[in-house]
Amino acid sequence: MFLYSGNDLYCEGAALADVAARVGTPAYVYSTQTILDNFHAYDQAFGDIPHLVCYAVKANSSLALLALLARAGAGFDIVSGGELFRVLKAGGDASTVVFSGVGKTADEVDYALAQGIHAFNCESEGELALIDAIAARRGAQVGFAVRVNPDVDAATHPYISTGLSQHKFGIDIAAAAAIYARARQFRNLSAEGVSCHIGSQILDPKPIFEAVDKVLALAAELRAQGHPIRRLDLGGGLGVAYREGEHAPAIGDFVRGMDARLRDSGLRIEVEPGRSIVGPAGVLLTRVLYRKCNGSKEFVIVDAAMNDLLRPSLYRAHHEIVPVRKSSLPRITADVVGPVCETGDFLARDREMADAMPGDYLAVMTAGAYGFALSSNYNSRPRAVEALVEGATFRVIRTRETYADLIRGETK
Ligand SMILES: *Cc1c(COP(=O)(O)O)cnc(C)c1O
Repeated sequence: MFLYSGNDLYCEGAALADVAARVGTPAYVYSTQTILDNFHAYDQAFGDIPHLVCYAVKANSSLALLALLARAGAGFDIVSGGELFRVLKAGGDASTVVFSGVGKTADEVDYALAQGIHAFNCESEGELALIDAIAARRGAQVGFAVRVNPDVDAATHPYISTGLSQHKFGIDIAAAAAIYARARQFRNLSAEGVSCHIGSQILDPKPIFEAVDKVLALAAELRAQGHPIRRLDLGGGLGVAYREGEHAPAIGDFVRGMDARLRDSGLRIEVEPGRSIVGPAGVLLTRVLYRKCNGSKEFVIVDAAMNDLLRPSLYRAHHEIVPVRKSSLPRITADVVGPVCETGDFLARDREMADAMPGDYLAVMTAGAYGFALSSNYNSRPRAVEALVEGATFRVIRTRETYADLIRGETK
């Protein structure tokens, strides 16, 4: 929840200028309320259909956010052993965890089995064989779903579209039944589910609904063949509005669109939303360092860079950039760039925006998902501080890295 009161931008009841002054910049600031509202929007829209909302940890894996969601009753979708470690440290329950991803290692599978996770979403026959062998060694029995590729076009950025047969993800839906049949040989695995995830930042839910229909048909076919399918994992992918004037489907409407198809299936429904829960719940605060003009081009040079927020450089993603305190200066058109030594280091290009002078704070909006999580130490820049607002108060949930942090584990 980010709104102006007078000229000042607030996160819930906390003035962001105060937060920036206290914790410094660049800083990620999250709204507790927005995260919980978005989670509950999913959870409640399913109504009495048996379901589990597994937050996709990769969108933002900060312990405090995971702890918040665990307390609210979320399960978790993980894609690495490290993410499972985080979920457990945050107080999450392993029995609510599904393990996705195309390249699970033996060590990760062993760790996940030792912790007793709920299920694996598998993406190759080799992976099924590996999980079965490790489960056998442990004397464990575990449920799996094959992640099928329904061959629908999610119409999103090519880097975050995953549901076409040309992508590395999943198994061709046409080949899935044969794989489930062959998987009967794996004594320590049971075919409890079918899963899919067709991409991210999807603003038109039609391709997701199309995928749901295809996956439902497959589940019915598998059940008829005697597989104990009882869960459908429909992945994440619902988009958020990054641009002013852009519209994302409301979470409740989206879920109800799926519900209508799923109500009579008798299956437990799982979803794995990441971006749509935390994306709108975070901003990146940055301070203007300099202004300069090269020829006709205006630059606003800020203290946040591509190492802090990679999405503009990686996907040419758009994030609104707004003043933390509004001024009455006329608007400008400028590039907003950081200190990193790369031409590709920008937060915005040719952006019509509020004028901003050195010392002013800006808020890069809708930065809660794939923001901090994709940040790095490139150019030996310590990673940003993260703060969580609740009401009028906030607390630091991750301290700003120090120079000592930059060389941790290194020897000369
Ligand atoms: C990335 C990912 C998600 C989350 O996607 P969002 O677009 O953030 O909702 C869910 N499931 C899987 C398997 C993923 O890879």
